[in-house]
Amino acid sequence: MTNPLHDALFAPHEGSDKVFLHLPDGASLSYAEFLGLADRTANALVALGVAPGDRVAVHVEKSPQALALYVACIKAGVVFLPLNTAYTARELEYFVGDSGAALFVCDPSEAEAMGPIAASVGARLKTLGPDGAGSLSDMVAGQSDHFAPVSRDLNDLAALLYTSGTTGRSKGAMLTQGNLLSNAQALVECWRFTADDVLLHALPIFHAHGLFVATNVTLLAGGTLIFLPKFELEAVLRLLPQATTMMGVPTFYTRLLDDPRFDRDLTAHMRLFVSGSAPLLAETHKAFEARTGHRILERYGMTETSMNTSNPYEGDRRAGTVGLPLPGVEVRVCDPETRTELPRGEIGMLHVRGPNVFKGYWQMPEKTREELQEDGWFITGDLARIDTDGYVTIVGRGKDLIISGGYNIYPKEIEMFLDDQPGVKESAVIGAPHPDFGESVVAVLVPEAGETIDLAAIEAAVRANLAGFKRPRHVVVMDALPRNTMGKVQKVDLRQRFAGVFQ
Ligand code: ATP
Ligand code: MG
Repeated sequence: MTNPLHDALFAPHEGSDKVFLHLPDGASLSYAEFLGLADRTANALVALGVAPGDRVAVHVEKSPQALALYVACIKAGVVFLPLNTAYTARELEYFVGDSGAALFVCDPSEAEAMGPIAASVGARLKTLGPDGAGSLSDMVAGQSDHFAPVSRDLNDLAALLYTSGTTGRSKGAMLTQGNLLSNAQALVECWRFTADDVLLHALPIFHAHGLFVATNVTLLAGGTLIFLPKFELEAVLRLLPQATTMMGVPTFYTRLLDDPRFDRDLTAHMRLFVSGSAPLLAETHKAFEARTGHRILERYGMTETSMNTSNPYEGDRRAGTVGLPLPGVEVRVCDPETRTELPRGEIGMLHVRGPNVFKGYWQMPEKTREELQEDGWFITGDLARIDTDGYVTIVGRGKDLIISGGYNIYPKEIEMFLDDQPGVKESAVIGAPHPDFGESVVAVLVPEAGETIDLAAIEAAVRANLAGFKRPRHVVVMDALPRNTMGKVQKVDLRQRFAGVFQ
């Protein structure tokens, strides 16, 4: 009997006294304790009537018990479905209904509101709080801490993960055991993870980054996690000296750089900082190196594929690029309409293929057919360029491309120019409907702390440096860009807000 994820990620650590989780209050859980908790949880799932292939929807705060629920699902052959903690009852109703979950685990504070939602799809409801207490834990406590893993093969579903909903309604990505395992293996190799690694984990565990990348890599290597409920600056600064590696979204790194205590001394012992989930500004990359001497390693992935490309561990970590394809992963850039491959250096739609690519969108056969070709190539929706030496640069999302008077305008090119102007911290460029050109360019600028932006000077710089059709025709200053919990700029919100400016 085999269960590939169990065999590779959990089985080697059974009975081990080594610390798996360091918690912020100083407590810790050994591998043996954690895996015992996971086995009790798996027994509780069976007692609740959850069968292999069923979905377990989970809307809870990050905790060791929540992570153990993930492990329990893998062992029980159950499909783990974590949901963004920010989702409201209305949003949860869609996810729980769409997934047809057999069990819905929510925070005790929302149990009353969720009761009818769970009942409407025939899901059982259990609770799990941030402190580990709740009706699920009450059941878990009484279970045996031995659970024989359910047999699975590489093609069986391990998780159903909904995309972030940046470009539209979130889609459920069906991820197999093989998808997750192949990616963990590639990353351990590329990023040189070993049992000596201690990873500072401040990411949420409802997203691929914190759940699969950070957790599976650590489990496969047999390392340790410093497991924080969320990114909290004081805790990160306090615990960083005990870590060897950290994974974060770009906003983690900009927030660290905003604090003078984050310096060369505090990071001298660190082996690796990884960034992803949203573009890391080249400026942040440079400021980070100037402050700490470390070059952040940026990688690129998505819910549907886990990680696709990474800057090299040894070799040139190029700011503004997402590096080279991971072992076993192929990338190509194609014409968005004809889907034929373009010559190196040209911008087009990025396609990826490999053992990491998902099985399809849950209950969306047509969308799956459109985006996941029969020959295995997945159309990412991201526009990119591949240099002659293989480095991939993400130019933006296909849906953010602005077409004005028949010209293609890549927002990132204009954003990079605007970001370099005096007083500008960052920017977002979007298209808004225009009666003559179809669309025209709107630029949102965020000032550096304590500075004001000289709009006349920006306009003059734009006129002198950018072709007429690329020039923003409407420029506004905002205190901050709208972002979600993963640090992704919500351009849909901006487009709605500025939809009328040229009308
Ligand atoms: P949805 O698909 O629902 O619109 P989403 O694409 O934001 O949401 P995720 O799967 O969480 O959902 O995010 C994947 C996307 O994040 C990628 O397609 C890419 O646009 C972006 N991304 C991830 N890493 C990077 C990176 N290093 N640089 C630039 N973009 C990145
Ligand atoms: Mg997407």
